[in-house]
Amino acid sequence: MAAEQPSVLVVEDEPAQREVLAYNLEAEGFRVTMAGNGEEALLLVSEDRPDIIVLDWMLPNVSGIEVCRQLKTRTETRSVPIIMLSARSEEVDRVRGLETGADDYVVKPYSIVELMARVRTQLRRTRPASVGERLEFEDIVLDAESHKVFRSGQILKLGPTEFRLLSTFMEKPGRVWSREQLLDRVWGRDIYVDTRTVDVHIGRLRKALCQHGGPDPVRTVRGAGYALG
Ligand code: CA
Repeated sequence: MAAEQPSVLVVEDEPAQREVLAYNLEAEGFRVTMAGNGEEALLLVSEDRPDIIVLDWMLPNVSGIEVCRQLKTRTETRSVPIIMLSARSEEVDRVRGLETGADDYVVKPYSIVELMARVRTQLRRTRPASVGERLEFEDIVLDAESHKVFRSGQILKLGPTEFRLLSTFMEKPGRVWSREQLLDRVWGRDIYVDTRTVDVHIGRLRKALCQHGGPDPVRTVRGAGYALG
């Protein structure tokens, strides 16, 4: 189940604030990684790209703004949403002025409910299945909240791994996923699984999607991986 949880990186130098954030995000079902400074944050992101980053502006040495700027200039991390935390609204105005590319800004002291809502808004755009959205692709409907999949109105029987594979595909139809990327996303980074396992589950997914007929929507991209449509 781990890989289905959205992952969040919390970057905050004050331990108490960091703990509060982590506690609340974990309670909301997030997999939380924490960094106490900018250098650590940049290192962690290059090792394991999170789904979203909550980044404090005031950090020792490398500031939150600099971290944000660096992440938004790198192709690999550009699409990761960043929510900046700032102590004063004037700072937020400055961040906006600097055009660091942050996706949202929250002024401290913030309400945790408000912050969680902002986090979900960002994820609805980038990882819709992880926040219980309903995804549609051609005649396939995936309801992440009820964990059900329909094709042309008929319910499909799907194993948990196939469900995660399909939600990954449906979040970005047309995108080609390599076997390694699917392993990271669907099985999780910490679990050792052979890339051939991916092929096995793709086979099962194809079978499941066609259990009431219809063409196979999963495309094999030679030398690259798999895509939906
Ligand atoms: Ca701080």
